[in-house]
Order: sequence, then C-alpha cells, then structure tokens
Amino acid sequence: MNKLLLIFYCLFICTSLFLLTSCEPETEKEEGSAQRSPNFVIIFADDMGYGDLSSYGHPSIKTPHLDRMVSEGQKWTNFYSAANVCTPSRAALLTGRYPIRNGMCSDKRRVLFPDSDGGLPATENTIAKLLKEQGYATAAIGKWHLGHLPQYLPTSHGFDYYFGIPYSNDMDRVNDIDRQEAFWNAKIDYFNVPLMRNEEIIERPADQRTITNRYTQEAISFMNDHAEEPFFVYLAHNLPHVPLFVSEDFTGVSDRGLYGDVIEEIDWGVGQILDYLRESGLDENTLVVFTSDNGPWVIFDDHGGSSGLFHGAKGTSYEGGVREPGVFWWPGTISPGLVTDMGATLDLLPTLVNLSGGTLPDDREYDGYDLSQSLIYGDKSPREELIYYHSTRIFGARKGNYKVHFFENNPDGYPERMRELEKEKLYQVQHDPSERFDLAEDYPEIISEIKEMVEAHKGTVEKVPSNLEKRIGE
Ligand code: MG
Repeated sequence: MNKLLLIFYCLFICTSLFLLTSCEPETEKEEGSAQRSPNFVIIFADDMGYGDLSSYGHPSIKTPHLDRMVSEGQKWTNFYSAANVCTPSRAALLTGRYPIRNGMCSDKRRVLFPDSDGGLPATENTIAKLLKEQGYATAAIGKWHLGHLPQYLPTSHGFDYYFGIPYSNDMDRVNDIDRQEAFWNAKIDYFNVPLMRNEEIIERPADQRTITNRYTQEAISFMNDHAEEPFFVYLAHNLPHVPLFVSEDFTGVSDRGLYGDVIEEIDWGVGQILDYLRESGLDENTLVVFTSDNGPWVIFDDHGGSSGLFHGAKGTSYEGGVREPGVFWWPGTISPGLVTDMGATLDLLPTLVNLSGGTLPDDREYDGYDLSQSLIYGDKSPREELIYYHSTRIFGARKGNYKVHFFENNPDGYPERMRELEKEKLYQVQHDPSERFDLAEDYPEIISEIKEMVEAHKGTVEKVPSNLEKRIGE
C-alpha cells in the first residue's frame, strides 16, 4: 500500500514538474508582450472645430469611424490646443511647452511662411526625440509647419521619416490667381506647395485631392514596416484647412457639402488606421489620439467648420478657438467613457514619454501633465489650469471651472482686434461654455486667485527671441 502511494506521489511530482516546464515559454511570452512599450499614433486635423464630428454634435457630418473610436475609448470634452493658430499649436503639442518658452510665437507673424528663415530650435525636445531614446521608430506624416529649411524639418527633430507638405496648404499661392477664385474654386495649380519625402521635394504642386488618402496609406505602411518594434506616428492632416480638396471617392458624399466631404474622408482614414491595428493584432498595444490644432476658420463661411456651442473661432482664445475634440483609444487598456476634466495637447509629451517607460529630462520647464492614470484608471485629470496665449500675450486663464478674460477680440478671429480690457471678465465655463454671462462682479476673489496663478506662471517664463519673424535673406 505504501509503495503504491509512493508511486502516485512520484507520478504527481513528475507531472507537476512537466506542466511547469511546458508552461514556462507561455509565461515568458506573456510577460514579454506585457513589457513591450506601447505604440503611439497621434492624428491631428488642421482647423477642424469642436463641433465638426457627429459624436461631438454635428447634425449633418457623418463620422462613423471616429464615433466608434469615441465609443470604444475616452471622449474628452474639455480638451485644449495650446494656441489658436497652426505653428505655435504644433510646437506646443510636440514639445509639451507653451510656445513663449521656445520662440515659436510672434505678434508680428503669427505662423511660419514659405519665406520664413526660422523654425523649431534644435535644442527643443520633441516627443519623437524623447521616444527615440526608448528605441522607437518615428514618423511624421503630413503638415509640419515648424520650419521648412533642412535644419528644422522633422528628420532634424527626432523623426526617422517624413512625408508631407511642410506648411499650410494655402501657401505658395500663384500670383496671378484672384484670392477669391483661389479659395472658393480651388485648383491644385493655384497653390504651388511642395510635397516632401524626408528632405527631398518629390511633387510640386502637391496633388491635394489625394493628400488625405496618401497620408493615411503612408501612416499604415510605416506601422506595417515597423510592426516588430515600438513606433510613434504623428499624422498631421493638412485638411480641413482651406482651400478644401477631396478625392473623387468622397466628392459629394456628405450632407454638409464640400467641408463635410473633407471631414468624412479624414474619418475614413481614421477607420483605415484602426482597422489596420485591429487586423494586425497591434490594437491592444497601441494608443491612438485624435484632436485638432485650432478652431474653425469661420471667415470662409461654409468652407470653414464649426466650434459647436462655443464662442469664437480660429485666431481667438475664446473657447471656440482652442477647445477641440480629444479622443483616446487603446482597446483593453483605456477605460472607455466621457471625461469632462481638463486636458491639453501639451499633456501628450509627458503622457507618452511616461507610457514608453522614459522620464522627462529635468533641464527645462514643461507645461504638460501626465494623463496616463486618467486614461487607464479613470482618475481625475491632473490638469486644472490653462494659460490662453494669443501669440506672446495672455488673453485669459482658466483655473478649475473659471476662466478670466484679460483681452477681447473679434470672435471671428480675422481681422484681429485684440484689445486689453479695462476690467477683467469672468466665466464659469462648465456652466456657461459659450462664455455669455460675466461673473466678475460676483467673484472678485476668483479673479485675484487666477491673476496670482498667471503671475506665478510668468515667473517661470524666460522670454526668448521669436523664431517666426525673420525672412530668408534678411
Ligand atoms: Mg490650423
């Protein structure tokens, strides 16, 4: 009997040991995949307003792919761009710093132009540069607008690969075309913008009708080529910035007209990218973010978008100029839901660097917060304030739910009519997102508190010369 027990005991030990050994590779594989750094894709629209997606309230534009991304991910409704026009907005996203800190803003020339001699300084840390230190493959696809001279191009700022138009799609307008005709009846030949691959111009004028499609394909092939290593793709569409261009496949598809066609093509592109990630099995290890650089360019009537219920538009620091859709998608990791806390494009750099396993160099001031705990666990956002820069001036500031205006402006943004207010205005922007009811008389102590916050912020800013003002040959 004892012998039988001993045999059973030996069999049990052997079987257990066998099972343990045979399970080992599986355990290692699981640990290995859990430890692999996540991929990142940022999709950045140009001049798309808060109200231009069906999931953010547009009644006639259909964006089923972004709507699905919203329902599977987190939809942020208090998500901000750090500037109300293109160049400073892009500088802020990629560096995690207000543009006042690196000279990427100016009161004289609000953005870079084809005759500009400047760009993002080499000393700046971009998301790409910091992720490269973690072994990421990095690509910038689309609009750059941080300097088109070789020393300022994406390949000089931490990106392994660049494909795109290096500035806005309305630049290099040919001289003999009437402005009105050029914008309202846009043709490719009217805008002699270059399309670049790395540092080479490969097409001029760029065929803007196919540009959204080609940017999407480029992003997918980069991900596919680098599927075995962590990657970061910064996909910055040139559209829906005017002049509006759309491919044949999307011409006339939207109830919203040409502007809707353009948004629906961008939405299709988002669907292509998410489908690629799902089909390749990379979806559970990839964070995709969708947002826009600034509010809609409403002076172009129905060729411009909508800021929804917000006051103001591109070129202003009213909510409509800087509040944008902010969608975060990472199946299995991000807890889906609606987030009404504050977030900003400034936060993407610290969030992505932290998720990649890196740390921020402590040699400079950053203005972003790490949102990863809010994304993964639904924690309260660490961001509770925003400084609304209008070029080098501070238009206003938000702390908690209150926003102070120090200036007023033409709500359409163009022509600019910035005028310092004699008496500040105060809005509770969660109760009153349209900034209609001035509460300055009721809460002077809140104004004082916000002014103190602004003064403290100013104390951290070392003013540097603008990089946007010098022209080539000057
Ligand atoms: Mg823009």
